Amino acid sequence: MFSQTMYELGTKKSTIRTIFEYGRKRAAEVGEDNIYDYSLGNPNVPAPAYIKQAIFDILNEEEPCAVHGYTIAPGLVSVREKLADSVNRRFQTNFAAKNFFITGGAAGAITITFKALSEAGDEFITFAPFFPEYKCFVEAAGAKLVVVPPQPADFQIDFTEFEKRISAETKAVIVNSPNNPSGAVYSEKTIKKLTDIMKKKEKEYGHPIFLISDEPYREIAYDNIKVPYLPHYYADTIVCYSYSKSFSLPGERIGYIIVPDEAASFEKIYGAIAGAARVLTHVNAPSLFQRVIARCCDMPSDISTYRQNGTLLYNGLIAAGFKCIKPQGAFYLFPEALEADDYAFCKKAQKFDLLLVPGTDFGCPGHFRASYCIKTSTIEKSLPVFKKLAESYGI
Ligand code: PLP
Repeated sequence: MFSQTMYELGTKKSTIRTIFEYGRKRAAEVGEDNIYDYSLGNPNVPAPAYIKQAIFDILNEEEPCAVHGYTIAPGLVSVREKLADSVNRRFQTNFAAKNFFITGGAAGAITITFKALSEAGDEFITFAPFFPEYKCFVEAAGAKLVVVPPQPADFQIDFTEFEKRISAETKAVIVNSPNNPSGAVYSEKTIKKLTDIMKKKEKEYGHPIFLISDEPYREIAYDNIKVPYLPHYYADTIVCYSYSKSFSLPGERIGYIIVPDEAASFEKIYGAIAGAARVLTHVNAPSLFQRVIARCCDMPSDISTYRQNGTLLYNGLIAAGFKCIKPQGAFYLFPEALEADDYAFCKKAQKFDLLLVPGTDFGCPGHFRASYCIKTSTIEKSLPVFKKLAESYGI
């Protein structure tokens, strides 16, 4: 009568949602200021003023039927030209409009890419901890997600475990750096080693293994850390970018896919992306926001609040006795839980009105995620509470 899988996906709430909804209920009881909700990755920095200005300018200057009308499925050529120029200037690449496909954010970009690449029996590899939606997106494309266990010392890649999991069925490898939830950025050394292995395996199996770079946090990196631009290291790279985090526009659904000319069978892959977008009812990315990003794509992101919040929370947690890697990017901390069972730990934290997400949900038990895209004052107020929580474990 209906798909049990879809029913379960639609009705079983994710842990993050359940915690968030609990937080809303609890806030109504004890007051917003007494709840420390670290559950969601919803940017708390407002979209920059130049976004608002661009919206007004577009509405005032451009023809309404065009602004609100359909565009061609890959997005307006003029917009893709602007995006290509901007990326070329920043990363010394050589892209053109034909390499870009504008999407509804990173979720749109990765689902379309997974669907475009998938054939029966294919496997997609990713590295724990990972964005939980990968599993249902990959499975919806008819493929299987294969997870490489984490390397908790630094959340770079455990290459021995990675090599064990590559097979003739591997269609693609998904990376996300800066990472949700670990906050780690893959170093150039990690990327070189990863791509060397993938090149070797492409030769061995005689078919391309694509590298899908899911990079919605690209602009959110601290201390001038280098975020390697993956098309420079590996020809068969597909870039999935989003403005949800960098411009604080998650509700507007805007991002893009880049398929470089150098990727194997570029035209076929780009065609398959267009086909996948078609069956996934993409139609086109929001027309107004295509125009907005064309006007704003060279503007900087303001990451100062995230930098301040990350430092504050990291120092506070270390002082309270937690173990954690220093935030390098994105807006998440991923410390060790204070007991082996991260669900039990997060349940206990809830009693202190600290809302944290168990690492198991990201394929990495024994840890928890704290999203620090929240008010700085909430973080300040929560630090003594984290200390009390640590003390309750005898720390
Ligand atoms: N990929 C990762 C790693 C994310 O963390 C998110 C959102 O949190 C997405 C993709 C989806 O982002 P978007 O809002 O651009 O669809």
